[in-house]
Amino acid sequence: MIINLNGKLVPQELAVVSVFDHGLLYGDGVFEGIRFYSNNIFKLEEHVERLFDSAKVIMLNIAVSKQQMIEETVKTVKANGLADGYIRLVVTRGVGDLGLDPKKCKESFYFIIAGKITLYPEENYLNGLSITTVAVRRSTAEALDPKIKSLNYLNNIMAKIEAGNHGSPEAIMINQQGYVSEATGDNVFIIKKGKLITPDLSAGVLDGITRDTVMVLAREAGIKVEEKTMTRYDLYTADECFLTGTAAEVIPVVKIDARVIGDGKPGVITKKLQNLFHGVTKTIGVKVV
Ligand code: PMP
Repeated sequence: MIINLNGKLVPQELAVVSVFDHGLLYGDGVFEGIRFYSNNIFKLEEHVERLFDSAKVIMLNIAVSKQQMIEETVKTVKANGLADGYIRLVVTRGVGDLGLDPKKCKESFYFIIAGKITLYPEENYLNGLSITTVAVRRSTAEALDPKIKSLNYLNNIMAKIEAGNHGSPEAIMINQQGYVSEATGDNVFIIKKGKLITPDLSAGVLDGITRDTVMVLAREAGIKVEEKTMTRYDLYTADECFLTGTAAEVIPVVKIDARVIGDGKPGVITKKLQNLFHGVTKTIGVKVV
């Protein structure tokens, strides 16, 4: 595998990061996960935009422009000769000293990996996931805004561990107010009486690019879409439920906290949205040529 290290293409064995990098020492950095389908990097511009927004909020200066970052990403995919895969684009605060002062980090550092990812087995896409809500609360926007896609994923990892302890592959996180926020790496949707419903961004969720894509596709298909405050009651009584994310794509959920969702099978609207989503992944984005 060929890795892009700060603009240089190097073999995987030489792709190393300093132990003094604050991305590693403190989780001080931002990242994106991006997919490419048939030589089309899906919504690359939107991902780079979100990366730069996350960096701006944490006052991390990215040394290259958005356009250069797009070009570096395309270059990395090309160098690996893959038509389909997953990109991890990471920007760290860079090398500093052992104190956490970000001012000691003179230059930010980025790397891009273009490889493969399989989040869930095919069986889960066909038959749906059985998942749980967890006691670990989603970080508040006042503490660490979930809109920032930072290298600090411990909140999500703690939730994932808790779910795993209960034999569940994924967790739905509840926010400080007791409302549904999101899964550990995915946004949550339900369908109730034909309407597509997802927690409002103010519930403390990442402004997911797949989330946005699915809402646009639903509206185009004549499905009503609502972003609103959601409780566990709404989850349990939903007709259908699914998660969205770059890596997970659109994955049905058929059981939450031992409550069967709908008839316990992936729903009709979920399947329709899965198909519509796959239909646009090869067209919207930046071509690798
Ligand atoms: N929420 C969280 C916490 C995430 O990390 C992600 C991305 N893996 C998502 C939602 C989904 O976002 P996107 O559709 O942009 O990948």
